[in-house]
Amino acid sequence: QNDLLSATGTTIFTVMSALATDHGAINLGQGFPDYDGPEDVIEAAAAALKDGRNQYPPMSGHPDLRQAVASANRRFYGLEVDPNAEVIVTSGATEAITACLMAVLNPGDECVLIEPLYDTYLPVVKLLGAIPRLVRLTPPKWELPRAELAAAFGPKTKAILLNTPMNPTGKVFTHAELAFIADLVARHDCYAICDEVYEHLTFDGWKHVPLMTLPGMRERCMRVGSAGKTFSLTGWKIGYVTCDRTLAGNVAKAHQNLTFTTAPNLQRGIAVGLAKDDAYFEGLSATLQAKRDRLAAGLSRLGFGVLPTQGSYFITTDFRPLGFNGDDVAFCRALTVEAKVTAIPVTAFYASQDAPSHYARFAFCKGDAVLDAALARMEAWI
Ligand code: PMP
Ligand code: GLN
Repeated sequence: QNDLLSATGTTIFTVMSALATDHGAINLGQGFPDYDGPEDVIEAAAAALKDGRNQYPPMSGHPDLRQAVASANRRFYGLEVDPNAEVIVTSGATEAITACLMAVLNPGDECVLIEPLYDTYLPVVKLLGAIPRLVRLTPPKWELPRAELAAAFGPKTKAILLNTPMNPTGKVFTHAELAFIADLVARHDCYAICDEVYEHLTFDGWKHVPLMTLPGMRERCMRVGSAGKTFSLTGWKIGYVTCDRTLAGNVAKAHQNLTFTTAPNLQRGIAVGLAKDDAYFEGLSATLQAKRDRLAAGLSRLGFGVLPTQGSYFITTDFRPLGFNGDDVAFCRALTVEAKVTAIPVTAFYASQDAPSHYARFAFCKGDAVLDAALARMEAWI
């Protein structure tokens, strides 16, 4: 057995979703919408399925989806991308991130990671024999400690993995923060893997800025998107990487050994989706912003400390004001078993033991009635 994998626990999302099912809890844990994606996207995929688009598509992705990804890069960010050489379609962002890490990391290389961090990053960095250098954001505003970040870069740094908008914090990195990171990446002659799966889910006028659009970053960034989030179709597992052709060559080699390709009919649906008009993308963030507001207002009414969320599916909360006597794991367990509402303990997003243990993450990508019912259950429990 592989020692690193033996030592890796089952993902918190699986653990908490199973607990939610066992206890009949409303699942505000794992981040997936309880509503379907756009009908035209689903119909385009269904039509492709019936039209016989069912055999291996090209390894880097179907040409119409690669073209759609390139066009979206131009439309949203002014990036000129060659669809034939600079886009790789993957089985979800999860595979994309792994392929990007594989593309640049050698054993002994250092990779800078920002805590709290999404749970797949660290095991993959370690499996590649690379050395994680962790830097923590400072709650409750999730500020970037710049001096610590700068100190994490050194002669062995090969890459930084940056997630904005960020899971679980809902933080959208500011332009000034991105410029600071870009300067470090350029000075240390390294790469950035940019997990931008929530790129279209930003609120209050916050705009997502890809690190790739900053000066000097075009050749250094691998930008990862996910159709799961952009079209509320998380089970489809269609991801895409945009990067310079030299890097893309290596990402493709990693991808060909991981999955080689991904469902051609679903790729067709997403190609149609990415061509949707601006109103779709604006509507998506407006709908989620209203859900964030609904859940945030309800949680503060119940006495939670609600931390700011500028993007993503998630709100992080401080449950200490409720007077709960225990850590976040105990809190989320009690909430599931007793209140019958599931949240995710934020310590699951930390690699080290001394993480803050008084935060719980709630997903608001749910129907309004479900959010209201969850709030009512918690009110009765508190
Ligand atoms: N990165 C982040 C930050 C995520 O929250 C998620 C999942 N929801 C992923 C990557 C994985 O995306 P996908 O489902 O497309 O693999
Ligand atoms: N990204 C989702 C979340 O943070 C979960 C994805 C998964 O279950 N692997 O909730």
